Amino acid sequence: MKIVVQKFGGTSVANPALREEVVKRVQEARAEGYKPVVVVSAMGRSGDPYATDTLKDLMVSNCGCGEQSLRDMDLIMGCGEIISSVVMSSTLCANDIPSLALTGGQAGMVTDGNYGNAQVIEFNPERLQAHLRNDEVVVVTGFQGMSHEGELNTLGRGGSDTSAVILGAGLGADRVEIYTDVCGIMTADPKLVSDARIIDNITYNEVCQLAYEGAKVIHPRAVEVAMHHNVALVVKHLSESGDGTMIGSESNYMGEGRFGQRDSHVITGIAHTPGLAQVTVDMGADDADLELAMFDRLAESDISIDMISIFPERKNFTIEEEKQLQAEATLKKLGVDYKITSGCAKVSVVGLGMRNLPGVMARVIKALNEKSIRILQTGDSNITISLLIPESDLSEALCILHDHFRLSAPPGDDERVLA
Ligand code: ADP
Ligand code: MG
Repeated sequence: MKIVVQKFGGTSVANPALREEVVKRVQEARAEGYKPVVVVSAMGRSGDPYATDTLKDLMVSNCGCGEQSLRDMDLIMGCGEIISSVVMSSTLCANDIPSLALTGGQAGMVTDGNYGNAQVIEFNPERLQAHLRNDEVVVVTGFQGMSHEGELNTLGRGGSDTSAVILGAGLGADRVEIYTDVCGIMTADPKLVSDARIIDNITYNEVCQLAYEGAKVIHPRAVEVAMHHNVALVVKHLSESGDGTMIGSESNYMGEGRFGQRDSHVITGIAHTPGLAQVTVDMGADDADLELAMFDRLAESDISIDMISIFPERKNFTIEEEKQLQAEATLKKLGVDYKITSGCAKVSVVGLGMRNLPGVMARVIKALNEKSIRILQTGDSNITISLLIPESDLSEALCILHDHFRLSAPPGDDERVLA
């Protein structure tokens, strides 16, 4: 069986006109001889009646105390995808495509029991395969599975991408197509950088980094699973033509332009994360126990920290702004000397092209300094350089770096790309 998994995000199934576009994509795949498996997210965005955030708000406003059980939250949040899958499969049936909806659990996705952020630990494809052999298009609810105990678990934000990739890997699909409201993975978020360009080919590693650093076009766990199982991933626009972005391993692209002679870009893309706060803690150089206790207490309070830089007498790190009050309470209890600066954002440049290329950090800093953008902290790893800046400068910083590394120039246009 030639199988393709097609995942449609919340904005792609939000109204009848868009769902007709989904039908066209399914028809196209069938016309090419594929048996499509469709994965859907909840319809629309926050404020729309059946969107995940709306269902979540319903619980919060109903209880009013923020004390809802995780189990109840998962049960109600899972409804958005169930509604969406039933509406989508009935739309397919109305277009003479035999179809049925299955929840993640019914489709064979077994989760680890962790409410709100579950992992899929097992996928049993038999039921789905039987429907495919019957020539039915199964519409699977994204974002959820069922534990061995029969509990509904959701997979965390962006989890439908992961559902699609798990199905693709487990069914041996030729590829997984992620349909969304942009033409593919772009060199930066097109909502903030107007001349962002679509990236035709990109490696799993780079997309993973962009996704970790805030490019929410695809969920990082989905890319990790795809990389692990070597599943070909394509990201495209629901209704516009175009090949979208092909995501594969580095070896797929060697010598074919992307990493061969023609593309001279040092940077592949830029991601950003708004809503951060910088924490600075001063303590004695020999206070190793206190340092350890601080990181332990923060972790116990479920406060994730990032951009950690440790000096003998100073520790810097970032937290999500919404965790600021919790972090202050934890630090006060420990009696440490701290300062928290809110209103920060992280900008990260990512690219295989910077591997073993000295001077990229210096160029980034110089480009921002020239426009008087204050850099509060930096961090770097193999193919990523991150900078913490005031959030008020975020859009400008993204555009400056996008221009500096000439990301709007197509690969191969060396005169424009080579800086
Ligand atoms: P879906 O509902 O289809 O899952 P998302 O909202 O999760 O869609 O992802 C698509 C959005 O991701 C786009 O509208 C775009 O604003 C944002 N985005 C952020 N960074 C990028 C990027 N580098 N390339 C493309 N889109 C990006
Ligand atoms: Mg998404």
